Amino acid sequence: MLSLEKGKYTHETLLPGITWIYDGINDSIYVDESDEAAFVIDTGMRDESLVDYIRRNITDKPLTLVITHGHLDHTMRVSEFDCFYMSAKDDFLVPEKAHADFSKRIDIHERDVIRIPGLDLVVVDSAGHTPGSVSLLDRKHKAVFHGDAFSNGANVWMQLPGCSDLSVYRQSILKAIDTMREFGVDDSWIFPGGHYEQKYGFPDPKYQPNEPGLLLMEQMAELCRKLIDREIEGEFMPEMDRFGDRVYSARYEKAWMLYTLKQVK
Ligand SMILES: [Zn+2]
Repeated sequence: MLSLEKGKYTHETLLPGITWIYDGINDSIYVDESDEAAFVIDTGMRDESLVDYIRRNITDKPLTLVITHGHLDHTMRVSEFDCFYMSAKDDFLVPEKAHADFSKRIDIHERDVIRIPGLDLVVVDSAGHTPGSVSLLDRKHKAVFHGDAFSNGANVWMQLPGCSDLSVYRQSILKAIDTMREFGVDDSWIFPGGHYEQKYGFPDPKYQPNEPGLLLMEQMAELCRKLIDREIEGEFMPEMDRFGDRVYSARYEKAWMLYTLKQVK
C-alpha cells in the first residue's frame, strides 16, 4: 500500500508498465511505459524535482509529459520537461509559480493520438472540472487517466472558478462515455485519477475506496440531472466556502460532487 507520509514522493506499481507516484500532498502522477519510452501524466506540486525522482526510482527512458488539466497540483513541475501536451483551454489556470513556458505547450484535442515508441494515448474531451480537462486512454494497458474529471473516489470539485454549469458537465460526461466505449473501454479497464482516495480511501470514514469507472461516470451524469431537476438537494458545506459562493455537497450512488447553486442549470 502506498504510503500517505507527508512531505516526500513515494510510488507503487499499479500494473506492469504503470507506476503510480504520490507526491505526499495528495496528488497523483503516473509513469506509463513501453519497452522504449514513457509517458509522465501530470506532475503533482512538490517543490523538489519530479524528474530526478523518476530517474532514481523508476526509469531512464525518454519521458513525454501529458497534462490532464491546468490546475497547479497537476502542473507545478512542467518546467522540468522539454515540452508538454495539454489543452490550450486550460492555459489560464496554470499559475505563475509553475513557470510554464507556453511556447512548449502542445495543444491537444478530442481524439488526438499522442504517440511515443511502443505506446499511445487517445485524448477524450472531459470538460467540466476545467474547460480543457481530458481523459487519456492507454489501450495497451487498458487504463483511463482522467485527472480530476470524474472524481478520484471522493468528491469531484465543481465549485472552483472555471468549472462549468452542471448541464454542460453532464453532456460532457455522456459524450466521453460514448467515445470511450467506441475505443473499447469497458469495466475491465482501470481509471487512475489525480489524487489518492480512489484505491485506499482515507482514515476518515467519508473517504472509503471508490474506484472510478464507466459506472461512476454514468452516476455522475445522473447526479447532475437530479440536481438540475431538483430531485435531490445538496448539503451546505460552510468549511468549503473559499471562493465567494456557498458550496454544497451532493451524492448519488458512487458519484459525489461539490458545487455552487449558480451552476445548477
Ligand atoms: Zn483539478
